Amino acid sequence: MLYDFEERRDRPMSEKVTDLQEGGRLKHAIFSRQFDRDLLERLCEQAMMIRGLSQTAAGRAFLASTLAHRRAMLYFTQPSTRTFLSFMAACQIMGLSCNEIRDPTLSSEFKGESVVDSVRMFSSYFDLIIMRSKLPGLAEECAYLMNDLSDYHQRNIPIINGGAGTDEHPTQALLDMFTVRRTFEQLPADQRSISGKTYAFCGDVGRSRTVRSLVYLLALYENVRMVFVAPNYKPLALSSEMRTTLEGLGIDVQEVDGLEPVIEDIDVLYMTRIQHEHNSGEDKRFFAEADLSRFKLTPQLLGRMKATAAILHPFPRNDEIPVAIDSDPRAKYFRQARNGMWIRAALIGHVFGLEDAIRDHYQA
Ligand code: ASP
Repeated sequence: MLYDFEERRDRPMSEKVTDLQEGGRLKHAIFSRQFDRDLLERLCEQAMMIRGLSQTAAGRAFLASTLAHRRAMLYFTQPSTRTFLSFMAACQIMGLSCNEIRDPTLSSEFKGESVVDSVRMFSSYFDLIIMRSKLPGLAEECAYLMNDLSDYHQRNIPIINGGAGTDEHPTQALLDMFTVRRTFEQLPADQRSISGKTYAFCGDVGRSRTVRSLVYLLALYENVRMVFVAPNYKPLALSSEMRTTLEGLGIDVQEVDGLEPVIEDIDVLYMTRIQHEHNSGEDKRFFAEADLSRFKLTPQLLGRMKATAAILHPFPRNDEIPVAIDSDPRAKYFRQARNGMWIRAALIGHVFGLEDAIRDHYQA
């Protein structure tokens, strides 16, 4: 039966991962745990090739020809700047034409159409749906809907998750990993590995879907130490489930109540803003009294960081990174945002089976 998603949402991730792939590649990109190390590294290499090809007119023309016969729907009903624009730019690089719905009150949802009906309608006109919603499981359900339509021999298309509630943001995790990798590539040969380093996550750890997605990709590497720097307040701190999961994956997990004690150890500092849009009444009372200064990066703390460290932030930022830090070479967040365009183009290429064509053209 169509629209019967509940049981599938409750399954172990390993079963979901199988369901979301087809013919040796991802059919839908919903969770960061769908990426194993081999695929992640291949996507980073593809992103570098796309970036390289984009530097010449011939390369740009080749890329734009690859999916010129395809159309993408960007269904972003939750606010977005970077994810939306970088996906749009990625589609344009690969030749896909794009349409968007950002305000559901301008679509038939306003007339009471269900989101699932809307998404199925999109699949009548488009070849790819990239979506962001405040509903954590919506992208996952839409992927199952497409799989069910396939079983019924009906038209179905890939779904890419551009951010699901407080749950997951897998393509942000891809661009974060791509940025980490590109940053370390600048270091001497014996320091380039992603393995064996200290990654600190600071701020609203508990409600950050970007942190939740990124830790799984970092956990694919050996001897990784993760330090979670969050207020000692349950909604914002690392959840005990996540801690257990990460320890089960062999990660050295540490939780601290401020940047000060760990700042000198950090190889990658992943800052996040406090996501006030998720506040409950109790959270508002907590913030009215809380001193969050220990979770902000200052020029003084920066002065104590490793010369080779990298500062990342998914953005938007509030006051956790002052603009005075932006000119420091360790501040990678603007480059990180641009990297999103390349890795998202690589992901689109992967979903449409273009990896070999891109590699062949790059090497020719
Ligand atoms: N842009 C990121 C997200 O969509 C982080 C944030 O909003 O703070 O999750």
